[in-house]
Amino acid sequence: MTVAARESPARPDPSGWVGHPRGLSTLFFTEMWERFSYYGMRALLILYMTAPVAVGGLAFETPRAASIYGWYTFGVYAAAIPGGWVADRLLGQYRSVLLGGIIIAMGHFSLAFAPLPFFFTGLTLIVIGTGLLKPNISTMVGSLYETDDARRDAGFSIFYMGINLGAFIAPLVVGTLGQGVDWHVGFAAAGVGMTLGLIQYVLGRHRLRPALERLAPRARSPGAAGPAPRTAFTATEWKRMAAVGVFFVFSSLFWAAFEQAGSSLNLFADRLTRLSVFGVAFPSTWFQSLNSLFLITLAPVFALLWVRLREREPSTVAKFTYGLLGVGLGFLLLVPGARIAQGGTLVSPAWLVGVYLLHTIGELCLSPVGLSVVTKLAPQRVVGLMMGVWFLSIACGNKIGGWVAGFFDALPLPLLFGAVAATTIGSAVVLALLVKPVRRLMGGVH
Ligand code: GLN
Repeated sequence: MTVAARESPARPDPSGWVGHPRGLSTLFFTEMWERFSYYGMRALLILYMTAPVAVGGLAFETPRAASIYGWYTFGVYAAAIPGGWVADRLLGQYRSVLLGGIIIAMGHFSLAFAPLPFFFTGLTLIVIGTGLLKPNISTMVGSLYETDDARRDAGFSIFYMGINLGAFIAPLVVGTLGQGVDWHVGFAAAGVGMTLGLIQYVLGRHRLRPALERLAPRARSPGAAGPAPRTAFTATEWKRMAAVGVFFVFSSLFWAAFEQAGSSLNLFADRLTRLSVFGVAFPSTWFQSLNSLFLITLAPVFALLWVRLREREPSTVAKFTYGLLGVGLGFLLLVPGARIAQGGTLVSPAWLVGVYLLHTIGELCLSPVGLSVVTKLAPQRVVGLMMGVWFLSIACGNKIGGWVAGFFDALPLPLLFGAVAATTIGSAVVLALLVKPVRRLMGGVH
């Protein structure tokens, strides 16, 4: 791969991008378009599966649709583990992201065809492609910087903005086309977005050269070098990995509630919410943009808040507690909303606006520290594996969330949403009680 050529030494890029290495813009827009495609199709997915055949849907029963949704979203995140391995051992990061993006685009274009085999082929391709793209593009963001570069965290925050910019626009474009014109036109639009991302990725590849040079020693051809020599873990390392185990459980619970955005909350928007504001009608998938909209506006506020609090900034464990509380309060808020809906009237859109606001506040507390604490707690020689563990917790959360959404028709919604609220708020309380023992396990890491 030419970009990985070693003829020129890595040097700071004088023509940077918003004060960061130029390569960040390439990765920002690649991930923006990839998330555009993912969240665009996800906004349509459960609605398409449950829609009657008369309106072009698949007419699946809700439990079946939710189960497919759960397995699919599980797969998308779980595939990050083999995807990271492929990049480290076989293809390198640049080619893994490129190949992943091509496979994702093929997946969306496959969904653009109506027959059922194209549907399942499309989902499978998106799982494989995202596994190759998502973890490795994040690794590349990290490698844009020297180890001691203080801009790294800010770089990740900018990258997270790219994710959310894509996620914000997606329902407005893909959702509108899918619901207003034809499901398959929507899916095709997701594929077009991914293709645009790929074009600018390839055109901007020279900007990634310094990052790829830093990564080069890690990428090995199979058998070229043996595994790192095994050394036994120390007692501290074992304890820290036990702490990762604790975070895994609570992270899964958080994402199980949060990731119902695309399933039960999407169905609630579509079936039970009034889809007009001040007399102007809009498609139900537009609710899917709220999380990103709030995230983009609130992320700087939270960043400032943590800086202002300085040494009073909450610990990672405390932030996890707030995250669970935020997502739990969101579901609690929806209990009276669901009661009103039970009465047969469509509820005000304000209910879901409030839910997504609380969910985003929770996400801002938990998600940014999650990955970073895992990388800090993991012994250096298994840090890649531990990153996979974090993605796996998101995968498990998605699976549990899909399982819960499967009860959408079978249980009264105040009970279903109340149960999610009770579980997440209850686990926030449990974690609050565990602060001291978990901090002891973390052995000095905050
Ligand atoms: N919205 C973020 C993304 O798509 C985080 C989602 C997650 O990690 N579950 O990358």
